[in-house]
Amino acid sequence: MTPSVAADAPLLQVGTLTKTFGGFTALDNISVDIRKGERFGLIGPNGSGKTTLINCISGALRPQVGTVVFAGEDITQLPPHLRARRGIARSFQIPRPFKSMTVLENLMVGLDFATDRSASGPEEEIAMSILQRMGLSAKASAPTDTLSQVELRKMELARALAVRPKLLISDEAMAGLSSSEVDEVLDLLISLGEEDITIIMIEHIMQAVMRFSERVMCLDAGRIIAIGAPAEVMANKRVQEAYLGT
Ligand code: ADP
Ligand code: MG
Repeated sequence: MTPSVAADAPLLQVGTLTKTFGGFTALDNISVDIRKGERFGLIGPNGSGKTTLINCISGALRPQVGTVVFAGEDITQLPPHLRARRGIARSFQIPRPFKSMTVLENLMVGLDFATDRSASGPEEEIAMSILQRMGLSAKASAPTDTLSQVELRKMELARALAVRPKLLISDEAMAGLSSSEVDEVLDLLISLGEEDITIIMIEHIMQAVMRFSERVMCLDAGRIIAIGAPAEVMANKRVQEAYLGT
């Protein structure tokens, strides 16, 4: 095989994943490949299995059946911190900053876990450049409890970026933001996609999903009911029924 074959391989390969809790099947035989640099929207009604799927990818949960392959490596049995080290980062629904620290200090904590720091000089410089990317450099010395809601979201993203992820997973990072703030965060996410960071975004705000995603996958009761171009998926009858049903 030539190296170009490997370069074209998907970054993430989820294969026949099944996750049950007791007798309840939260994920039922999920298979999906996500390519490098893809902006991938994950939707579905409450309880459809979105967070469970993300947990199986990040390592918080282990599936009973199936595999998760990341950058060509089977990571199904790896603990979360080793997956993080390989480049999987999550941004959580509820921002969880270290409250007594400044914004810059919060980022430095993240950098302590970074995989490859040799390329771009001292950590503080890296942290400042990430804050600049997120439009937060003026807040570097501010305690995190003085930040607004949208600033907290941006800091959460900055913390995720501090580990230099190949794959960034955003689980409802827009909740509680105004529509102009949603657009701001979307612009940031889209610009990360342009740098070949692969992004999986879970989001309830459909306009945000439509604008962000190159591809959308809709789950219902642990199964994939539609996957494809955003407009196609939104127009899908089963998708519309799944949302009407909740
Ligand atoms: P979503 O993120 O799409 O709202 P989840 O993945 O959080 O859905 O949940 C899918 C289903 O699995 C829900 O019915 C939920 O109650 C169940 N579930 C999730 N995590 C657990 C758990 N740790 N134990 C038992 N049931 C769970
Ligand atoms: Mg969820």
